Amino acid sequence: MQAQNLTLHNIKICNLDKITISGKLCLNDGFLGSEATGNKIDLSGYIAYPGLFNAHDHLLGTYLPRVGNGPYLCWKPWDEDLKSASIYRERNKLSINQIYMLSYYRHILSGVTSVCDHIPHIINKEQIENSFIRIVEQYCIAHEMSSYELQWGEAHELEIKKSHRLNVPFITHIEEGFDEESKRGIEILKKKNGLFHNSVLVHCISCSQSDIKAIAETKASVVWCPASNYFMFNQTADIAAMLDQGINVCLGTDSPMSGSPHILDEMKVAKKLYYQIYHEDISSKKIMEMATINPAKAFKLDKLVGSLEIGKKADILILKDKRKNPYDQLIEAQPENIEIVIREGIPLFFQERHKKLIQNQAILRKFYKKITVHNGKHQQKAYLIGDPLKLLKQIRQTVNFKKNFSFFNIS
Ligand SMILES: [Zn+2]
Repeated sequence: MQAQNLTLHNIKICNLDKITISGKLCLNDGFLGSEATGNKIDLSGYIAYPGLFNAHDHLLGTYLPRVGNGPYLCWKPWDEDLKSASIYRERNKLSINQIYMLSYYRHILSGVTSVCDHIPHIINKEQIENSFIRIVEQYCIAHEMSSYELQWGEAHELEIKKSHRLNVPFITHIEEGFDEESKRGIEILKKKNGLFHNSVLVHCISCSQSDIKAIAETKASVVWCPASNYFMFNQTADIAAMLDQGINVCLGTDSPMSGSPHILDEMKVAKKLYYQIYHEDISSKKIMEMATINPAKAFKLDKLVGSLEIGKKADILILKDKRKNPYDQLIEAQPENIEIVIREGIPLFFQERHKKLIQNQAILRKFYKKITVHNGKHQQKAYLIGDPLKLLKQIRQTVNFKKNFSFFNIS
């Protein structure tokens, strides 16, 4: 499937630095260009955002329902509960390809075009090429810093060294718990020379104020997964302190087996929890930053994604414009409000009324399936890339019952 050359005009464009009331997006060979190309499509009454970026997930964990009986002391007993659960055995009946495919649809149907899949390269290497969404490809990795960690990638020191040498992100869970070792995570990381500007630190729940200061000084990034943290621990990171100190905070769902079903939910949880903890509002614009440009910076993709700018990839999320604050509209959006999702100029999902995005009927027939999306009492006819119905059928055949996923409720 090739990128479509299109000009979307009369559309409201919502970037973090600027809102254009009636703008134009020129999709040119997968990029945003300055010259009108291809078919001209009038999208007055709609609003465009940069495709969302989920900063932390484990795509192989794309399954439901959630597993756990917290609050836990650290991630380890949760991991043991997960791996001894019957739902884990059910999930493992599916092939890696099927689970990854399910994860792509979960993301597309919530407006996500980029994701960081925190897993050793050996597992997602082959998936990245055939993925409908962008999976961060360049990274060094650790599972986390304690002595009981799951040993992903090479030894910590080697991965850290490689991250310095190649100037790619070094991703690790850290301080995901309250036992003595978890609480020393940042200290251990520092000793290994792993706290620096390439570090992407996931969770940081038990980080002390001096840990937060150290993270800020080194310009490392933090990924906040509030739904997963609350589900497992009834607590989350001190995000207000991190934002005060100028840390690049990103938002991630974690896998749906502990976190949110999708990023639209996670954004709402983030906003609600922030108010619950600090008794003050965090702006919707700040939350949008955490799910667009901040992860793009953390994963060194900000020259390509994270905003709708000429020269960047044409990764676009389009909603119906409700003519209220555009940032609030994004955070309040539900999956049924999504009109169009485009990655690198390829429409991945669109409501039937936007069928003219694909003019060539042969392409429409070959690469898309017409589906009904069910979201609560909403039912919408739409087109989705690939063969989602075949996937759902295969999954149901494999587990031998009519399995449903709230994030993939199609027929
Ligand atoms: Zn995780």
